[in-house]
Amino acid sequence: MKGLADKPSYIIELLEGGVTLEDVIDGHICEQALVEKSAFVVGDLGALMRQHACWQSVVPQLQPYYPVKSNSSPAVIQVLASLGLGFVCTNKAEMNLVLEHGVPPENIILSGVCKQLAHIKHAAKNNIQHLVCENEAELSKISRLHPSAKLLLQLTTEAHAAETSMAFGCSLKSCRHLLEAARELGVQVVGVTFHIPSSCQDLQQAYTHALSDARCVFDMGVDLGFNMNTLDIGGGFTGSEFQLKQVESAVRPLLDAYFPPLSGVQVLAQPGSFYVASAFNLAVNVIGKKVVTRHWDSLPQGENNEDTEFLYYMNEGVYGPFSRKLLGNSITAPSVHKHVLCAEETVYPSSLWGPSLDQLDQVVERCLLPELSVGDWLLFSNMGVCGLEESTCLSSSPQLPIYYTVSTSDWYEMQEAGVALDSAMKDFAMVQYSA
Ligand SMILES: *Cc1c(COP(=O)(O)O)cnc(C)c1O
Repeated sequence: MKGLADKPSYIIELLEGGVTLEDVIDGHICEQALVEKSAFVVGDLGALMRQHACWQSVVPQLQPYYPVKSNSSPAVIQVLASLGLGFVCTNKAEMNLVLEHGVPPENIILSGVCKQLAHIKHAAKNNIQHLVCENEAELSKISRLHPSAKLLLQLTTEAHAAETSMAFGCSLKSCRHLLEAARELGVQVVGVTFHIPSSCQDLQQAYTHALSDARCVFDMGVDLGFNMNTLDIGGGFTGSEFQLKQVESAVRPLLDAYFPPLSGVQVLAQPGSFYVASAFNLAVNVIGKKVVTRHWDSLPQGENNEDTEFLYYMNEGVYGPFSRKLLGNSITAPSVHKHVLCAEETVYPSSLWGPSLDQLDQVVERCLLPELSVGDWLLFSNMGVCGLEESTCLSSSPQLPIYYTVSTSDWYEMQEAGVALDSAMKDFAMVQYSA
């Protein structure tokens, strides 16, 4: 354990004998009730390890490369690095973060469609060889600044195009072009990457197209004399074991057909949400309330012709930890702290808003909740994936405290699973928590 002078960047609370995550949340709510009732986040590091165990049991053939953009909290990076994951970075700050955690440069990929020159140079300087590339402008930048790079060509997928309504990645035809240009410039191409988001409706079809396209690009690459040895099937894993198995059953037969183990191709994936989503809970405070009553004159006499709806304002919104909402993701309704709903209790249609009084700052459009009071706490689960903007990321929102926890049993298992005690503990100041 480090001394006081050498303060760790974060503190982990070790939950001993029967202390639960709920107890920890209760404890912090009590603390917050005495001060400003700030929102806060509780991270369960044991969840990262449990997700890793699930990954290894369902898809042992896929090497996980964690996209740092999903959640760049130092504790998350530390645990995932000591579990031996690779990392996908999109900029210099992310590369530095994972390098500082001792991740070898060969386990890092620099991704991103248009990379800043300085970031390409930074990758070259730090011996990060694997770069994603999808267009000729990018290729010529890379050939100038990082001539020894090993490129993964970003292949477009229909599912991705449909979701973002923006062409992302290159088509089969432009891949041939890019491969030829790379050969002209003397830059190595070693494989293909694509991404199918979890919102994709027809997984089977999406993976079938993407993997047969990838096979075509491999064949073209081999024709042109490249050593094609890396396939990256991207992210799109929600975090549930069920969905992981669904993806596995869509992907495995295709991999067996197009990229059998004997082909020597290393297959990677980029699970972001899978690792972090369930590991973080957010507690927010209700700071305002409005009642809207609607009368329905058309209903017959005697029937309940009034509808009561509540609008609640919370101390965090879409310009903070709920930024995912602005990107079109829906936020699951929260639970009410210390409230066990009983059968006869009346629930009301409710909407939940952030504090900005902005029309866009609606966090949950409609959910059914018992009547709340100002000062009540709401708990949102599955809050581990940050928004895209750095400033709203959990780790860099200075006003939002994050409390990390791990149960003793998870901690022992983590050590057994290979979370190297020596390297991991040196940053961890363990606090024993008694409720
Ligand atoms: C965000 C992102 C991921 C991670 O996606 P998840 O669905 O969270 O696993 C993977 N690959 C790319 C290209 C991404 O942009």
